[in-house]
Amino acid sequence: MKIRTRFAPSPTGYVHVGGIRTALFAWLLARQAGGQFILRLEDTDRKREVEGTGKHIETSLRTLGLNYDEGPDIGGPFAPYRQSQRLKSYEEWARKLINSGRAYADPYTPRELEQFRQKAKDEKKPFLFRDHRPQNPPAWDGSQPLRFRSDPKAYAWKDEVMGELRTGPEVIDDFILIKSDGFPTYNFAHIIDDAEMEISHVIRGQEFLASVPNYLNLYEALEIDRPLLATVPHILVPAGNKKLSKRDGAKDILDYVKDGFLPEALVSFIATMGWNDGTQQEIYSVQELIEKFSLERVQRSGARFDEKRLEWVNGHFIRELPPDELYKRAEGFWPPEADAADASHKKAALALVQERLKYLGELSQLTKFFFAAPADGDIRSLFENPVDKQLKNLDRAAIIELLQKARNELSESDFSEDDLAERLNGLLEKLDTKPGILFAAIRIAVTGAPASPQLFGTLHALGKEESLGRLDKVPALLKT
Ligand code: GLU
Repeated sequence: MKIRTRFAPSPTGYVHVGGIRTALFAWLLARQAGGQFILRLEDTDRKREVEGTGKHIETSLRTLGLNYDEGPDIGGPFAPYRQSQRLKSYEEWARKLINSGRAYADPYTPRELEQFRQKAKDEKKPFLFRDHRPQNPPAWDGSQPLRFRSDPKAYAWKDEVMGELRTGPEVIDDFILIKSDGFPTYNFAHIIDDAEMEISHVIRGQEFLASVPNYLNLYEALEIDRPLLATVPHILVPAGNKKLSKRDGAKDILDYVKDGFLPEALVSFIATMGWNDGTQQEIYSVQELIEKFSLERVQRSGARFDEKRLEWVNGHFIRELPPDELYKRAEGFWPPEADAADASHKKAALALVQERLKYLGELSQLTKFFFAAPADGDIRSLFENPVDKQLKNLDRAAIIELLQKARNELSESDFSEDDLAERLNGLLEKLDTKPGILFAAIRIAVTGAPASPQLFGTLHALGKEESLGRLDKVPALLKT
């Protein structure tokens, strides 16, 4: 079997993690089988279309490495890949259905339709259009909606994720194929496109599941062999009580990239939202995902979106990067203070913060002090309200004395990391004090930050002159 999968978004806005997950699963399946992954833009709802989002979707997929083999901007054997350019095809298939008596013009006005709905509501019955199927519909001239003449029956089918499903005839209805504006509905267009584009697997969100029996009915009427169907469950808000939506803060996937989340981390994180390989593994390389992914192991219940886990996964990928690669990726994330700094100083700073970076957007804040002396106010307020409890109990005079002693000791150092460690550890013993006091005080004095990378490396990276200069400023600051 040739494996051809597709991602078929409507260009109505950006893509968030939910859309990307659908695309990723389809991409993995195609890559694993040496098949093709296709991008098709479903732009038949003119009212909802947002200008420019087609391009944005293409960029999002490419940025994450989900390259497609056929698509609107690159063409392919079944071009065009934009539904608004395929209207002729839909009309041809629609004519076939009219000729075989399986489609008819809907003669009703919106008002009449509303009355039918109201009647069903009053009678506490579900509304079915087919209860009002017109006896003698007019010939379809394109000005009326074209409806499918359904053949209500029970279905039992296999969903590649959800398993064996069945429904009764009551869910089958006469749905619209082509709207009065000449554009097809999703319900009709995707079936035609998937068939013409020889799609083997339709992988899509849960919101379409209830319509599948109607699609099965339409496949039969069109005499089209249906593709395999796979329904991926919703992504839920962190609390797990409802579907994640843009309103709940589901961000544009490219915003995560802009914040310094690595594409490979996003891919690993998104793949494991509702899929696992049967182990506890949480971090996957793309290659591993291609090898291990299977639709059978996609879970049937909703998967929670947990941004904290994304940060954890991203931190992991950042720590794994070789220094030069991390330096390349860090481009654009440095604080303005680093503009004039040379590469070796930036690399030294990067090596010191790599361990605790969760995303590259934090780089600016975490490394500022490597490139410019901290603000007086920051130093003062940290001494007034130190994070380290032990330091809290010291009065100003004691702090000044402590820093003076540290300064004297450091002035003897060659500022290699080993020498700094030896001297400062020696000083700890000599003064009979604790790292939470001595090291914390030096840290505040030279970084002006509540937390910073390990002290000896930091002092080494700042260099002797700069470090001593910063220590020298503190007594005056604390006295005023
Ligand atoms: N155009 C549909 C959407 O954006 C796609 C559903 C499908 O993949 O078939 O939700």
